[in-house]
Amino acid sequence: MSKIIQSKLPNVGTTIFTVMSQLASDTGAINLSQGFPGFSPPSALLDRIKHHLDHGDNQYAPMAGVPALRSSIAEKTATLHGRDIDAELEITVCSGATEGLFVAIQALVRRGDEVIILDPAYDSYEPAITLAGGVTRHNALLVGSNDSNFSIDWQLLQDTVSSKTRLIILNFPHNPTGAILQAADLDRLANLVRDTDCYLLSDEVYEHIVFDGNTHHSLLEHDELWERTMIVSSFGKTFHATGWKIGYCIAPRLLSEEFRKVHQFVTFTVNTPVQNGIADFLRSHPEFYIELPDFYQRKRDLFCQLLEGSRFKLTPTQSTFFQLLDYSAITEEDDVELAKRWTHEAGVASIPLSVFCEKPLTGKLLRFCFAKDDETLQAAAKQLSAL
Ligand code: PMP
Ligand code: GLN
Repeated sequence: MSKIIQSKLPNVGTTIFTVMSQLASDTGAINLSQGFPGFSPPSALLDRIKHHLDHGDNQYAPMAGVPALRSSIAEKTATLHGRDIDAELEITVCSGATEGLFVAIQALVRRGDEVIILDPAYDSYEPAITLAGGVTRHNALLVGSNDSNFSIDWQLLQDTVSSKTRLIILNFPHNPTGAILQAADLDRLANLVRDTDCYLLSDEVYEHIVFDGNTHHSLLEHDELWERTMIVSSFGKTFHATGWKIGYCIAPRLLSEEFRKVHQFVTFTVNTPVQNGIADFLRSHPEFYIELPDFYQRKRDLFCQLLEGSRFKLTPTQSTFFQLLDYSAITEEDDVELAKRWTHEAGVASIPLSVFCEKPLTGKLLRFCFAKDDETLQAAAKQLSAL
């Protein structure tokens, strides 16, 4: 047998999140790179999970998810977005958004199909497309005059859509730029896909973290878009519990059927006590996710205010728990090398944006996670302000 493996993903290395978190840990730097909250999930949620662990909820859950969780997701969706979802047939609980995205892509993309993603794009999309035999078409988001204000380049998107396009992947609220969609954007998207056969995959993991009085516009709010969309979300971001790896896919019945055909052979099902605990908590404590934007907006404002005297330029992010900082006034260096160097020398780890892009970005930007306690943000800002 040949000693050389013909890799199915020859261009893929270890993810930037693993690389930067490892470097932060090796160097003792403050880790604002990989996005994970520095606080515990709410204690009432932990209590409900412990309750289910102690009361025999420890065997396989139904393949699509426990009914109580699916119906509490349906209730939340009806309240927030005004659409009645069939909890039995249109919601599938999955092992984090990563599984949901992978499954959605395997379920929809056939050999040779084109899939459009919007750069900077989350790093799990392209490998999943490649494994499905699809071809990734990168569309850069439009950059505003201040280099950190991103939006969909509608003309470019229109020009990229063709009869070969099987899927467009969107991610709003957007990691890493914080860009959000307005209601009018949904109409624009509907106009764009109306006479095509392409499906939409909407990564909405930051659905509950949108600032400045804006609201999250899910693609499922729009009747025409809903018919062709799989929405994937995650409880990791919403409940400060990224390590639980639990999320969900909402899609119309026929699309959910295709999703489940794949999901049942990827993880089959997600751990039972956490599903039941989240089901209880979603019903009993809706204020937790309703108040989440205020909680994170205060963190964002603190982080931005602490950096006021620094040489970084910034536009406060509109969503997510990531803030982009423009370092062009400090150095012209490449962002990947700089993120590593500053982890060593400034003691703060960040994520370079270029790893999410096919073409180089015009701006000089690094991404910092502000989902941390105030003391950590103060210490990080002090070290960044010295640069
Ligand atoms: N999509 C985006 C845009 C993300 O930022 C993340 C993770 N932070 C995921 C998907 C994956 O979510 P999960 O951890 O639930 O797999
Ligand atoms: N989504 C997280 C981020 O953007 C990281 C997830 C991961 O480490 N795979 O930082």
